[in-house]
Amino acid sequence: MDLQHWLGRATDAVQDWAAAFGPYRPHPSLEVDDARFASAFEEFTGRLADNYPFFHPHYAGQMLKPPHPAAVVGYLTAMLINPNNHALDGGPATAAMEREVVARLAAMFGYGTHLGHLTTSGTIANLEALFVARELHPGRGVAHSADAHYTHARMCHVLGMSSHPVRTDEKGRMDLDALEDVLRTGRVGTVVVATGTTGLGAVDPVHEVLPLAARHGVRVHVDAAYGGFFTLLAGAEGPEGLPPEPWRAVARADSIVVDPHKHGLQPYGCGAVLFRDPEVGRFYLHDSPYTYFTSTELHLGEISLECSRAGASAAALWLTFRLLPPTPDGLGRVLAAGRRAALGWADLIEASDVLELYQRPQLDIVTCFPAVDPATLTGVDAASARILADGMTGPDPVFLSTFKAGREAFAARHPKVTADADAARVLRSVLMKPESEDHVRCLHDRVERLARTA
Ligand SMILES: *Cc1c(COP(=O)(O)O)cnc(C)c1O
Repeated sequence: MDLQHWLGRATDAVQDWAAAFGPYRPHPSLEVDDARFASAFEEFTGRLADNYPFFHPHYAGQMLKPPHPAAVVGYLTAMLINPNNHALDGGPATAAMEREVVARLAAMFGYGTHLGHLTTSGTIANLEALFVARELHPGRGVAHSADAHYTHARMCHVLGMSSHPVRTDEKGRMDLDALEDVLRTGRVGTVVVATGTTGLGAVDPVHEVLPLAARHGVRVHVDAAYGGFFTLLAGAEGPEGLPPEPWRAVARADSIVVDPHKHGLQPYGCGAVLFRDPEVGRFYLHDSPYTYFTSTELHLGEISLECSRAGASAAALWLTFRLLPPTPDGLGRVLAAGRRAALGWADLIEASDVLELYQRPQLDIVTCFPAVDPATLTGVDAASARILADGMTGPDPVFLSTFKAGREAFAARHPKVTADADAARVLRSVLMKPESEDHVRCLHDRVERLARTA
């Protein structure tokens, strides 16, 4: 699609719609002439040059990439009207779109019933899930893996709940024996599992946690903020297919968080929380004297902790899903390419004499470290930091990130590396762009060359 063409159509469409309401002119206080705008805009775009090239396949660092053009046009078109999805009074059309995309997300995970909404972020979506967890099990805390996103411990603090980190195994997944020990104390009301940790993309064994939690009368929340859309590859044919068991089990969890602004091709400002039991809506009950007056139908603000939210976010996701639906043949193909990229790079690293795989990728995140002599954590850390910094400079840059691996986690995977420090940084690449698949060889050669000089 031709982005420029459709951006023009976006402004036309909104002007046509506005014309039906009769003539009107913006106030002189808002007027800006083109010459002044040009100079401000030039300064502005100059400032924006100070960015990493998230769009480029040579950017293989963090979880960052531009949104799909369909999301850009959807967002911009709706933003020109600027609906607020807090209430049907603020955005009837985009509120309806939000309900539709949330239903699609719920169906993607196999939920038969659901209550849910979009949020500004995965952080807020997880906060809501933990808030409901607290209301259902007052006085009891939350167990999450030691590798879970830091938001869980922090939001437990915000909510006045105790948080119980659970040891991970040698693949970065929640250790079930350690979980059982924590559950036996009776102090936990909800277990948080991740289908894709932020650091390593490790997938917790949801299917094994569920029966364990049920035995202890404990709820299960799935933090799929990063990995959620990988459910589209569960049981798929080909190298990109994922073991289906944890993904199928997600349908039996009590709540799920997924971030369309990570793997759903959306701009920032789009997370989502889903509850299997619509009855939890009662915990959100409140009265709002200044909204909810145009309709007795459900207003999204009545089931959300946030008030104002961009209707444009729902519009962008709705338009994207019309074109690239959350199905194996739609968005699934985008994720499959990134997953194949990660597997392909992991194979190259395994065959390399200067790089070592930290662990096999479970999704699309590759972690490795330079082979150093003598093999110590201090040496690995220094060489990784050097490669990260050197990679970004020069005529042929490569952008990576690092992951801090603790002494025990490192020893569980690489016992021969002498643990002379508490932790070591290893190199980490999130291959979330499908274009990465054709650039893996090039990325690998570049990182190998950097490793030889580090
Ligand atoms: C990114 C992420 C979060 C936080 O979501 P934001 O959208 O960045 O606020 C929470 N959990 C996991 C697993 C994540 O990857």
